[in-house]
Amino acid sequence: MLKTLTARCSSHVAFGAHARRYVHVGEPASPLLRRIIGQNKRGLYIIRRFCSDSTDGTDPDDASARVKSGDGDEAAESKSSSAIVPTLVRPEDCLTVVALPLSHRPLFPGFYMPVYVKDPKLLAALIESRKRQAPYAGAFLLKDEEGTEGSDSEKNIYDLKGKDLFNRLHEVGTLAQITSIQGDQVVLIGHRRLQITEMVSEDPLTVKVDHLKEIPYDKDDDILKATSFEVISTLRDVLKTSPLWRDHAQTYIQHVGDFTYPRVADFGAAISGANKQQCQQVLEELDVHKRLKLTLELVKKEMEISKIQESIAKAIEEKISGEQRRYLLNEQLKAIKKELGLETDDKTALSGKFRERLDPKKEKIPAHVLQVIEEELTKLQLLEASSSEFNVTRNYLDWLTALPWGEYSDENFDVLRAQEILDEDHYGLTDVKERILEFIAVGKLRGTSQGKIVCLSGPPGVGKTSIGRSIARALNRKFYRFSVGGLSDVAEIKGHRRTYIGAMPGKMVQCLKSVGTANPLVLIDEIDKLGRGHAGDPASAMLELLDPEQNANFLDHYLDVPIDLSKVLFVCTANVIENIPNPLLDRMEVISIAGYITDEKMHIARDYLEKATRDTCGIKPEQVEVTDSALLALIENYCREAGVRNLQKQIEKIYRKIALQLVRQGGNMEPANVGTQVQLDEDKVDSGSSSNESVVGAEASENAAEAEIVDSPANQDVTLEDEKNETSEAAKKVEKVLVDSSNLVDFVGKPVFHAERIYERTPVGVVMGLAWTAMGGSTLYIETSQVEQGEGKGSLNLTGQLGDVMKESAQIAHTVARAILLEKDPENQFFANTKIHLHVPAGATPKDGPSAGCTMITSMLSLAMNKPVNKDLAMTGEVTLTRKILPIGGVKEKTIAARRSEVKTIVFPSANRRDFDELAGNVKEGLDVHFVDDYSQIYALAFDESQ
Ligand code: ADP
Repeated sequence: MLKTLTARCSSHVAFGAHARRYVHVGEPASPLLRRIIGQNKRGLYIIRRFCSDSTDGTDPDDASARVKSGDGDEAAESKSSSAIVPTLVRPEDCLTVVALPLSHRPLFPGFYMPVYVKDPKLLAALIESRKRQAPYAGAFLLKDEEGTEGSDSEKNIYDLKGKDLFNRLHEVGTLAQITSIQGDQVVLIGHRRLQITEMVSEDPLTVKVDHLKEIPYDKDDDILKATSFEVISTLRDVLKTSPLWRDHAQTYIQHVGDFTYPRVADFGAAISGANKQQCQQVLEELDVHKRLKLTLELVKKEMEISKIQESIAKAIEEKISGEQRRYLLNEQLKAIKKELGLETDDKTALSGKFRERLDPKKEKIPAHVLQVIEEELTKLQLLEASSSEFNVTRNYLDWLTALPWGEYSDENFDVLRAQEILDEDHYGLTDVKERILEFIAVGKLRGTSQGKIVCLSGPPGVGKTSIGRSIARALNRKFYRFSVGGLSDVAEIKGHRRTYIGAMPGKMVQCLKSVGTANPLVLIDEIDKLGRGHAGDPASAMLELLDPEQNANFLDHYLDVPIDLSKVLFVCTANVIENIPNPLLDRMEVISIAGYITDEKMHIARDYLEKATRDTCGIKPEQVEVTDSALLALIENYCREAGVRNLQKQIEKIYRKIALQLVRQGGNMEPANVGTQVQLDEDKVDSGSSSNESVVGAEASENAAEAEIVDSPANQDVTLEDEKNETSEAAKKVEKVLVDSSNLVDFVGKPVFHAERIYERTPVGVVMGLAWTAMGGSTLYIETSQVEQGEGKGSLNLTGQLGDVMKESAQIAHTVARAILLEKDPENQFFANTKIHLHVPAGATPKDGPSAGCTMITSMLSLAMNKPVNKDLAMTGEVTLTRKILPIGGVKEKTIAARRSEVKTIVFPSANRRDFDELAGNVKEGLDVHFVDDYSQIYALAFDESQ
C-alpha cells in the first residue's frame, strides 16, 4: 500500500514536470467517467498527446475495425495527435523493444510510472531510443525468485543480465513510452499490452514482442455491464472515502479519455493496493469479463480496507477529541474553582496547605503522628481526586494537622491574681476557690500543672458552670464546655471510625481543635445525667477520657493516633453526685455547692447580678436604685430556691422594665417639658404620671423653663442644634428610678412563692421534716391522722407519692412508734386499734429517700398521744428498728431550707455533726441544732415541754 502511495506521489511529480502540456477542458463527456467521479468537478486537465494513443484497441468495435482495416484509423488518430507533438515512430510499430524490468508492480496502460534505471547500458539504450524519436520500451514485471519475497529481487535486479534477466521477466508486459529521463530516473507511461516472443540481444536485453488485444466482447452484454457497474460503484464508494484516490481517478480519466470496460478493469486494478501478482494477473487477462471480475475482487478488498481505515481513523479521532474535550473541561473547571477559591481537588495545593500548617509545629508533633501524616500525604497524591477515599483522607489530614500538638497556653501560677479573678466573678464559694488556689500553688511549686478532675455538684443556678469559666480565666487556660446530659452514643466521646460516611472525631478532639491549645479547661456539664448507651457504655468512655492514668494516651477512633490529655483540666458539674457512675466518681474531687442563704443571695444580687444586668441593659448606676428592702423581698418571696438563676431572671426583668421607663420618659422629654420630670425625680416612679403629654412640631419641644422665650416671636430662629443640646442636657438630668419593696409588684408581679411554712404551730400529728432534692434543700411536713378505730383495726395507710424507701421507712416508723408508745404509756392501745393515714404533701411531687424515719415516728406518736410537737422544730434522720439514727446527706441544704422556713431547732443525726461544723458561720447563725443517735433523744426534744 505504501509503495503504491509513493508510486502515486511520484506520478504527481511527473505531472508537475509536464504541467505546461495541460490543457483545461470542461466536464468529462463519458457517462461512465461521470459516474465514477461524480458531477461536482470544476475542471479537468488532460494531456492531449497521450489521449491520442490511449484509445488504442480499447473499444472492441474500434479494435475489430482496426484489425479489419489495418492501421488506417490509428494513422488518422496519430495524425490528429501529431498536430501537437509529432511522433515519428508509432507505438504499434514497436515490435522490438528494450526490456525494462519492473520490480514492484506491472505498468498498466494509461498510468505513469517513474523508474530508476541503475544499469548504465540500459539507461544509455533508453536515452538513445528517445533521441531516435522512438521513445518506447517494454516494461515487464520481474518474477519473484523462488523462495524469496519482493524486496530481495530488488537488490538483485541490477545484477541480472541477458538470459537470466530474460528468464525472470513475466512474458506479458506493457509498451511504455519514455516521457522523460532525468539522471537515472525515467518516467514511463503505459500504452498497450505486449508479450515477449524471443530475445534479440542480451545487453541491454532487447526482445521481440507481440502486441496483445482484448478478446472481442459484446458491449451490451448484461453480465459484462453489471460487473463493470459493480466495479464502478465500488470504486465510487472507495473514492468517496479517500480524496487521494479521487485525484488518481481524475488524472487517469483525463489521460484515457473515455472509459471502456477493459479500461475500467485496468483502472481499478492499478489504483488498488493489490500485490504485484494480482496486478500482473489482471494485466495478463485478455478476457474483459474475467479481467473485470478480477478487478472487482481487488476493489472490493480495497473497499473493505478503506472501511477499516475509516473506522480506525474515526476511533482515533473520537479518542483524541474526547480527550481534548475532557482536558478542556478540566481546565475550565480548574479555572472556575480557582476563581471561587475552591481549589480543593488540586492535590498539590492541598498537600501544600497541609504542609504549611505542619511546618511551624513540626518539632512539637510526636514522631508517630508525623509518620502517619506523611503516609497520608503520600496516599493523597495517589488517590483519584473524585474518589470517596480521597475525601476521607483529606478530612483526616485536616484533623490531624489542625490539632494543637504540644501547644500549651502559658499558665498563670500567680495565686494572688487568681484569687482576684475568682473573687471578681463570684461571691462566696470559698471551697471551690480554695481548691483552685491549691491547684495553682502546686503547679507553681512543681513548675508544671497537672490535669485533674474537679466535680462541682449542687442544685441548678448556684454557679457551677460560671465558676468553671472563671477558673479557666484565673489559670489562663482556654475554656471549652460540652454537656453530656442524655448522651448515649459512645462515638460522641470516642469518635467514629473513619470508614463510616460522615465520620467525626469525638468531642475531645473537636475541643482541642477549636481551642488550639493542648491544656484547656474542659467543663463537662451534667455528668450525672450521662445516658445509657445501647452499643458501648458512655460512662466507660468518659472514664477513659477523664482518668489521669489513661488519658495521656487517649485513643480516638477517628484520629487513630493517641493524643495526650494529661494536661487538660477537667471540671465536671452534676446536680446529684449519687447518679454519677461510681468508677467515675472515684476519680473525681467533688466540691459541693449547696446553694445560697438569703444573706449570700443579697450579696450576689447586689454585687454581681445587678451590675451585670445593668450593663447589659445599658442603664447607668445613677439612673436606678433598688433598695435593700426590695432585694430582700425579691429573694424571700420570689426566689427561694437554692440557686440564683431565678433571682438573676427577676433582676433582669426589673431592669428591663426600668429601661423601658427611662426610654419612655426620655421620649416624652424631647417634646415635653422637663418640669414634670424633675418632679418625678423626687417622687417615686409612676409610670402613668408623665405619659399624657402630646406635642406637635419642633417649636413645642422647648421645655417649660424656656416657654416664655419660645413664645416671643423674636426668638423663633433658635437653631435646631440648640434645641438638641437642650434636650440632651435634660436627658442627663433624668430622674432616678427607685425600686422599693412597696413597688416591687409593679416590676415582677405578685409573689409566686408564699411560704413553705403552712402552720404557725404544727397541730397534733404534724411534724416538719427536712428534705433534700436536686433543686436544693426544703422543708416538708409529715401528717398523720386517724381513719377509724376498733378492736384490732391497727393498720397504716400511705399517700403522697412515696417511693419504696419511704414506704419502708413508714412501716418501720409504725412499728417503732408502737413500741415506744407501749413503753411510755402501756395502757394506750392506739396503734393496735386504730387505722391511721400518713400523708406527705405536696401529693403531686414524687418523694423518696432515707431521711424521713424519725419525722414519721414523731408524727405518729404525736397523734397517738394527742400532743403537738414543740414549736419551730424540724428534724431529719433515718431510724433503724432498734431506734438508732442513721446519718443523712445534704446537711447544708437542709440547714439553709430550715432557716428559710424560720425554724429555730433542728435535729440532725450525730454522724452529721462534722458536716454541720464545716458550714459557714452565717449559715449556722441563730440555730439551735441537736445531734442525736437514738430516737429517745428526739422524743425528748419533740414532746418535752421543758425543752
Ligand atoms: P449552674 O451551672 O450551677 O446551673 P450557672 O453557673 O449557670 O449555674 O449560674 C447561674 C448564674 O448565677 C450565672 O449568671 C452566675 O454568674 C450566677 N452566679 C451563681 N453563683 C454566683 C456567685 N456565687 N456569685 C456571683 N454570681 C453567681
